[in-house]
Amino acid sequence: MRKTRVVVTGGAGFIGSHLCDRLLQDGNDVICVDNLFTGSKDNIRHLLSNPYFEFIRHDVTQPIFVECDQIYNLACPASPKWYQKDPIYTFKTSVYGAMNCLGLAKRTGARVLHASTSEVYGDPLVHPQPETYWGNVNTAGIRSCYDEGKRAAETLFFDYNRKHNVDIKVMRIFNTYGPRMDIGDGRVVSNFIVQALQGHDITIYGNGGQTRSFCYVDDLVEGMIRVMNSREGFTGPINIGNPGEFTIKELAEIVMELTGSESKIVYEPLPADDPAQRRPLIDMASRELGWEPKVELKEGLKNTIQYFESIL
Ligand code: NAD
Ligand code: UDP
Repeated sequence: MRKTRVVVTGGAGFIGSHLCDRLLQDGNDVICVDNLFTGSKDNIRHLLSNPYFEFIRHDVTQPIFVECDQIYNLACPASPKWYQKDPIYTFKTSVYGAMNCLGLAKRTGARVLHASTSEVYGDPLVHPQPETYWGNVNTAGIRSCYDEGKRAAETLFFDYNRKHNVDIKVMRIFNTYGPRMDIGDGRVVSNFIVQALQGHDITIYGNGGQTRSFCYVDDLVEGMIRVMNSREGFTGPINIGNPGEFTIKELAEIVMELTGSESKIVYEPLPADDPAQRRPLIDMASRELGWEPKVELKEGLKNTIQYFESIL
């Protein structure tokens, strides 16, 4: 029987490479499309000799012509440091990338899943965040290229669904962590672990009272596969994330405890528009997919610390 041909844009990135691993394990034929803007061949090196894995170096702002049955659209710089580096390019990647994936899905009849984000809720005034919340997003700030780019992409997904009957799934990912996070992309989990392991100061932005909910990458990938294979006609948007909520100060303390680090905590200015609180409501994921995260923060952090120890 012919294998399912699955395109993963952003497949050489942190989440995308774990998704490629899982799709190959499940017996699919995987086409990884990535321009290596923030991703790396190191994340997929172990897959390059697999005959059912292909890597195509390609920029998703340009149309893609391949034959496929499913498309996971993950291509987009994802950390504030990287998405703010060239904000216009970030916006183009999000919007043109979505349009090109949708065009591909329209031509091939493939089902297409979009990796959206909790950032569509902005600095949320409703807490925790249900999918029905429309968000509180600044259109003109330094995070807007990412937040508004992702919001515009969602709009395109729903319009292609209504107008052209494209089979879509829109998934809103909350902060995810694990092995293969990029060491230099400035996200809080990788920053704290690397600082702790190297004995450097732990940099808390603001007073550390802001909260995030951290999902381990294996849980996230399981959720993503379930969203893709959810019932006909179910489009989302659907939250996938871990509802455990921690302040950034608590995260720093846990990382220091798990690494046995003697680093000291220093406080730096809070970046503009940094959301004060974030926690997903995951009732829809539980009801529609029977999904809930399994990996506790400390357990996931231990694996992530081991990974960084192995590459430092
Ligand atoms: P990542 O930076 O590791 O992966 C993104 C990948 O997209 C990289 O491999 C990069 O090279 C590629 N890419 C960027 N621009 C491209 C372009 N124009 N053409 C082709 N490829 C391009 O980030 P990640 O954490 O793995 O995030 C994956 C997706 O999940 C992103 O869409 C992100 O917005 C979304 N997401 C991630 C998180 C998180 O906490 N990690 C949270 C919410 C949403
Ligand atoms: N943060 C921090 N120190 C760091 C990096 C990030 O205190 O070295 C804070 C950041 O200000 C934010 C939270 O940690 O409040 C999560 O930041 P990240 O960039 O990981 O993700 P996002 O803000 O996109 O959720």
